Amino acid sequence: MSQGKPHDQRGDALRFTTVRSDASLDASSRLLSIIVPLYNEEENVDPLCTQLLALADKIPERVEIILVDDGSRDGTPAAVARWAAQDARIKSIQFRRNFGQTAAMMAGIDAAQGDILIPMDGDLQNDPADIPRLVAKLDEGFDVVSGWRKDRQDEFLRRTLPSRCANVLVSWVGGVPLHDFGCSLKAYRRKVIKDVKLYGEMHRFVPIYASWQGARVTELPVGHHPRRFGKSKYGLERTFKLLLDLMVVKFLAKYLTKPIYVFGGFAILSFASAGLASVASVYLKLVEGVSFLATPLPLIMTLTTISGCLGVMMGLLAELLTRTYFESQAKPVYLVERTLNLEGEVVPHSLAYPSKKAA
Ligand code: UDP
Ligand code: MG
Repeated sequence: MSQGKPHDQRGDALRFTTVRSDASLDASSRLLSIIVPLYNEEENVDPLCTQLLALADKIPERVEIILVDDGSRDGTPAAVARWAAQDARIKSIQFRRNFGQTAAMMAGIDAAQGDILIPMDGDLQNDPADIPRLVAKLDEGFDVVSGWRKDRQDEFLRRTLPSRCANVLVSWVGGVPLHDFGCSLKAYRRKVIKDVKLYGEMHRFVPIYASWQGARVTELPVGHHPRRFGKSKYGLERTFKLLLDLMVVKFLAKYLTKPIYVFGGFAILSFASAGLASVASVYLKLVEGVSFLATPLPLIMTLTTISGCLGVMMGLLAELLTRTYFESQAKPVYLVERTLNLEGEVVPHSLAYPSKKAA
């Protein structure tokens, strides 16, 4: 894994110690998969497709545009179908109901054929013109280039500020120094993203998983526009979800294969507290002549002993679950209603959750 050094003098990008030049494919023979989740974005579909197709005509790479309709209840599916009928580069997956942005992105990733995968928002807040810059940055020898909305056009107090704090925390816990995990516009080499499996709101942590698998990760400032049509689907509550997700990620990364260490560790602490409480009660009785019934010690002993026993039992259950998890078939996190211009079904891959250990 390459270790990121702090920002360079201009502060506009991360510089890494091990930069490898990887021009294995020339530009015209490689395929870019642009993956766009759409949820009630009817007014945005036309300008989005126009901009993306104009870009596709301009750049040397071949392009496929995968529009994942996440169960929209407005005119989005119809608009997407119109574009898919006009141009075979526009492909689409339509969910039966709203499964969330992460599931939509996962479906796009599963369907993507490209050598480079580029997720972005479908609300025109990301700028397609940044895509060639991201790809050029990948060609400098990186596996993941994450967009950084340096000049973010969202409400400051409700969105931008909590997101800044969250980014500092996620960088610290995940060990990948990025300014903006929440920016959807990123570029991935196929090999680092095809095996990733995402749950909850976890698409923003992909650079972390990737880096745990040894990917070289960097960031690049990208443009950001205010939303012109439709509404944002998120508010402040997302920050709290993100904190919980972060806990899960850390737990899965470190303890997926040995959950008993977490639960058992808690149990040992509980038993130790019970032991301390009993020593204290004996001391009080013999030395101070105080009956332990006059203190909260019996309550503490009982509670900590019970929680210790529960900790051990939950740890054993978690160990069983881990085995089931690894040894059973992975279940899809979404249901596909239909696909457009895609050959065959979208088959979710069945790889286990990536973890440092499993890598
Ligand atoms: N989105 C989605 N499913 C959802 C919520 C959002 O596919 O349940 C899509 C949405 O259509 C947009 C992208 O995810 O293309 C980002 O959503 P939004 O613009 O609401 O997020 P924000 O920019 O406000 O963080
Ligand atoms: Mg948006």
